[in-house]
Amino acid sequence: MAKIGATSAGGVERLTLTDTDKQARDLFVKWLERLDLEVRIDEMGNIFGKRVGKNDALAPVMSGSHIDSQPKGGRFDGILGVMGSLEVLQTIDENNIKTMRPLVIVNWTNEEGSRFAPAMVGSGVWASALERDWVYSRIDRNGYLFVDELERIGYRGSVPARKWPVHAYYEYHIEQGPVLEREGMVVGAPKGIVCLHWYDIYLRGEANQVGPTPMAGRHDALCAAAEMILKVNILPEKTGGDLVATVGEIQNYPNSRNIIPDKIHFTVDIRSWDDRLAQQAWNSLRNSFEEIADRRGCPIRIEETWRVAHSRFDAQLVQRVLDAAQDLGYPALRMVSGAGHDASYMNQVAPTAMIFVPSIGGRSHVEVENTLWTDCEAGANVLLRSILKSAAEA
Ligand SMILES: [Zn+2]
Repeated sequence: MAKIGATSAGGVERLTLTDTDKQARDLFVKWLERLDLEVRIDEMGNIFGKRVGKNDALAPVMSGSHIDSQPKGGRFDGILGVMGSLEVLQTIDENNIKTMRPLVIVNWTNEEGSRFAPAMVGSGVWASALERDWVYSRIDRNGYLFVDELERIGYRGSVPARKWPVHAYYEYHIEQGPVLEREGMVVGAPKGIVCLHWYDIYLRGEANQVGPTPMAGRHDALCAAAEMILKVNILPEKTGGDLVATVGEIQNYPNSRNIIPDKIHFTVDIRSWDDRLAQQAWNSLRNSFEEIADRRGCPIRIEETWRVAHSRFDAQLVQRVLDAAQDLGYPALRMVSGAGHDASYMNQVAPTAMIFVPSIGGRSHVEVENTLWTDCEAGANVLLRSILKSAAEA
């Protein structure tokens, strides 16, 4: 999989609904068919592979993650959970195990939200948390429409993207942070995922020749944005708690060295386990943005692009993951996920838990993202054990 969209520095670039995404999906479907799974593709392009159970009428145990990546992303984010689930299904197959409940493997569309905002839209629509047509109408930086791109790569399926009963959902993923490595742990079981707030900020200024235009009276949209960005950066220090706040993307127009910038777009990402703290932080940030925009004469437009409340996973399933790790002799840690995952929406539909393995150096969403193969194996073993346990439940 890492060959598809491989970058020169050892990462992958497999943005959602691009040709590389299609190539990886095709390979994934081929692997599902090789395991004789019943393949279904829904109208969001989510791919499901089902293995029948002894009692096929029971709700399935589901696991999976995502195939798409960040621009210049790593080889493990998302795809580890997809390949891990595939490995589990293959192992169950090779050992001629018939589970009581059916098993379903899934690849969710556009988890990253990097090309089309927001993130996690495949699981979001499936879980009835997001509107399908709103997601269809999202546009990328080059003006391409989500639904057109989905159609173009041949993954706009006919099955409605609508939730069905699921007995348990497990998502296996790299930690994407430094905690497990620092603590010398092999497996992490997050009790849940922080809340996520995404905003898009649009500023207008007044373009002019930089030479003849005096400094006084300028309406420089980039300078307004610069002030705002630093407000975002110092926000967590002001609010305290576990809040993190980031500006990760900016577009400056016309982006010419001798024209005063007259149009800016930038993004704001705020996360915390405490939804109220995140809301308070945003309220104060919004006030400073408006003050800066006003003072600099740069009209501001704010779009609240996405909001997911913090999600607390099913306590019993989280414990099951910890128990599985213990049974297998892997040191394990209960923790919190600072990254968003499809598991967040799945948690609204079914009892959900995640399995984390360490990210070397705590690095993720970068080309050097890496995880030891022995840790990958450990996580997959914990996944296998957890799935078998849930699949045996009446
Ligand atoms: Zn991911």
